[in-house]
Amino acid sequence: MSHQLRREQLEHIGAVIVVGSGKGGVGKSTVSVNLAVSLARQGARVGLLDGDAYGPSIPMMVGVRKRADAKAEVILPLAERKDLAVEKKIPPLQRYGIKIMSVGFFIGEEQAVAPIADALGMLIRQLLYSVNWGELDYLIIDLPPGTSEPQATLCREIALTGAIVVTTPQEIARVDTAKAVTMFQRAHVPVLGVVQNMDGFVCPHCGQTAAIFPESHERRQQLDELPLLGRIPLDPAAVTNGDKGYPIVVSLVDSPVAVAFEHVAAQV
Ligand code: ADP
Repeated sequence: MSHQLRREQLEHIGAVIVVGSGKGGVGKSTVSVNLAVSLARQGARVGLLDGDAYGPSIPMMVGVRKRADAKAEVILPLAERKDLAVEKKIPPLQRYGIKIMSVGFFIGEEQAVAPIADALGMLIRQLLYSVNWGELDYLIIDLPPGTSEPQATLCREIALTGAIVVTTPQEIARVDTAKAVTMFQRAHVPVLGVVQNMDGFVCPHCGQTAAIFPESHERRQQLDELPLLGRIPLDPAAVTNGDKGYPIVVSLVDSPVAVAFEHVAAQV
């Protein structure tokens, strides 16, 4: 219990949920966006903080470009100011009923070199406290991929309600999933469950879902041991809609992918 007391609490925010993955490219940002929008569609007040500086794709997924006023020099003087007056806080963007802020707005869009972990951790913390989130039922944080820094430290410092681990069905993902779960457990963050993305393929011709990767016994056992929040199939329409800035839960409401995301949101 004592570790909980030392953590930084975020005021006026009901649940703070981080979305992590053992490696990049598994659909972590896709899950974060569609979970956030699904929760808003269910009537919740939702914020989404995109902390993934390695592939800041959330702005594109919700159809926004880098903000002209989002410059590093605007935010850096606000470092560690948790008592900032509301009028001095940064207004988030609003899309699809959610409030959005992205670290991608504060680093070069085409920047080849990822920011060093300390700088990224500081930027994420600043956005947590310097953005005018208002009253929220949920704040979803899309973490950088992997299990190193700054995500491990952030998970220890911030009072988190829980973590969701995004994975894919390949056998090789088993180790990555285990590493992500271990990182959250070491930080005493409850693992709410696993979302298995790219689980099967939705045929664009017949609409049926077909399995792509065989699931090993060990892999199934791993998913049995953790709460499985949902299996999200691979749908080419998710990519084209995502690239145009339409999250699939609003653009293809009754598709298997959208239904699977609604199911995940209903359990969070
Ligand atoms: P990560 O955040 O883990 O790096 P992204 O969410 O950026 O991964 O997804 C990587 C790519 O895979 C994106 O082009 C995204 O549109 C695509 N993608 C993710 N999930 C699905 C899915 N279920 N069906 C089709 N494409 C997907």
